[in-house]
Amino acid sequence: MSANDPGKLDRIVAEARRSAKERDEGYREQALKLYPWICGRCAREFTRANLRELTVHHRDHDHGNNPPDGSNWELLCLYCHDNEHQRQLEAKGGGSPSAAGHRGATQSPFANLKSLLDGKKTS
Ligand SMILES: [Zn+2]
Ligand SMILES: [Zn+2]
Repeated sequence: MSANDPGKLDRIVAEARRSAKERDEGYREQALKLYPWICGRCAREFTRANLRELTVHHRDHDHGNNPPDGSNWELLCLYCHDNEHQRQLEAKGGGSPSAAGHRGATQSPFANLKSLLDGKKTS
């Protein structure tokens, strides 16, 4: 019996990783075949020479969702792609964490509350 072959799981994991990578590269190829090489935001045109700067964006932000009709893909240049994700983050979180932390440090309502409570206690 070799059902508990310890090397088997490793092989399965390696296989899964490899096919995931192939799939990732596959959707880019498919999207480039499906769509003209133009950024969907700034309309910058691309050629084979600078095609590396044209990226595939997933409209629903799910990289595992790759319908063959390309309905979840959008070709964006690196700059616009970055912008798109930045906007999404801001829409979700209502500002970057570092900005929120900075605001909290300068005018925290709790710091004020604490000093009020402390004042009551000591007086
Ligand atoms: Zn662009
Ligand atoms: Zn994206």
